[in-house]
Amino acid sequence: MKQSQLFTKTLKNVPKDETSINAQYLIRAGYIDKLMAGVYSFLPLGRIVMKKIEDIVREEINEIDGQEILMPALHPKSNWQKTGRWDEMDDILYKLEDTSDRQFTLGPTHEEIVVPLVQQYISSYKDLPFAVYQFQTKFRKELRPKAGLLRGREFLMKDLYSFHTNETDLNDYYEKAMEAYSKIFSRVGLRDVTHLTYASGGAFSKYSHEYQAVSESGEDIIYVCQNCQLAINKEIKDETPSCPECKGNEFQEESAIEVGNIFKLQTKYSEPFGLHYDDDMSKSHDVIMGCYGIGLSRLMGTIVEIYHDEKGIAWPEEVAPFKFHLINLNNNSVQSDEVYDSLQKAGFAVLYDDRELSAGKKLQDADLIGLPYRLVVGSKSDGKVEYKPRSSDEVELLPLNEMIKKHA
Ligand code: ATP
Ligand code: MG
Repeated sequence: MKQSQLFTKTLKNVPKDETSINAQYLIRAGYIDKLMAGVYSFLPLGRIVMKKIEDIVREEINEIDGQEILMPALHPKSNWQKTGRWDEMDDILYKLEDTSDRQFTLGPTHEEIVVPLVQQYISSYKDLPFAVYQFQTKFRKELRPKAGLLRGREFLMKDLYSFHTNETDLNDYYEKAMEAYSKIFSRVGLRDVTHLTYASGGAFSKYSHEYQAVSESGEDIIYVCQNCQLAINKEIKDETPSCPECKGNEFQEESAIEVGNIFKLQTKYSEPFGLHYDDDMSKSHDVIMGCYGIGLSRLMGTIVEIYHDEKGIAWPEEVAPFKFHLINLNNNSVQSDEVYDSLQKAGFAVLYDDRELSAGKKLQDADLIGLPYRLVVGSKSDGKVEYKPRSSDEVELLPLNEMIKKHA
């Protein structure tokens, strides 16, 4: 894409109340725009990043047989009354009504919708197991939405729900979901910082699990077992002195961001809705459930919190909006136009800075936007390109063919 055609520009200033690193860089570089605290628009560059993250998550969830659906964001009060959460979650729900006094809430999560939805299709054990998921905008009255994409009042989540006849089957699926989650966090560049973290399981299960990415800007505290690298959250630390996995008892305290969360719901939501199935003797049982969330917009913010320096963002390759940032520092653009065409023909995603601006400004913008590889074509390039990875200071002068081969 030619940068001259992008309707956004890099900005010098960010809104005064925007203190988080992720939002500051993402706003300045033109990835997102702030409408109000905890509510953002995704601009062309930001939308590409979000789609890339979404595609990675979709691939891995399809791999464990998730079936993608899309449920509504506007929910009737009655569904939320059934589970008692209309009152219980009163301080989180954005409630509204229409002209005939019907009451609604904007969905903060979708158990109340997915259970009666799948109920229509489940009668016998033969209808189970299965799992459904969606990418949905969630709405929550968060008290202090000051952390940019890390805590939105409106945010994008992948939520997966699984339905089983028995606990063994739930446990097997839960293991598979854990493997899928490991792959997802590896692919988006967070493998080395993300810890599987034991959390309280509520009334129905001993533990649930969080995926916590270690970062100074995290609002959670976790304790990383120095023996096995699993972690426990505060609740568990208060209950157990040793690691539930390896019994080790040396922990490192870290600030962390909860990027995902998986939970054995058992029959918590099947019961209030009467979600049953008949076994092979025609005896009725409650369906057993699991739920599995990832905050996609929070994930994008987390990646920026971890991958940046004082000049800007430095995207991991799999989620970068483009692989190359081609910069024309020459008044005569014939040479860089050719490089752009060759790269496009070779199938690479390229952002081409063809704007008429000073060299300094263009290089500054490239660092801020943070694409993995910068290619400069100047007046002295002589058929070669100046090649520099975003995370390195070394510039190499390479013939274009060689550069392309390097990335084939
Ligand atoms: P937190 O404790 O951070 O508020 P939560 O326990 O309320 O998170 P869940 O209800 O389990 O979160 O939601 C699943 C996932 O959605 C979380 O793991 C997180 O990645 C993401 N998420 C939750 N709340 C927000 C938010 N306000 N903004 C962005 N992402 C969020
Ligand atoms: Mg919350």
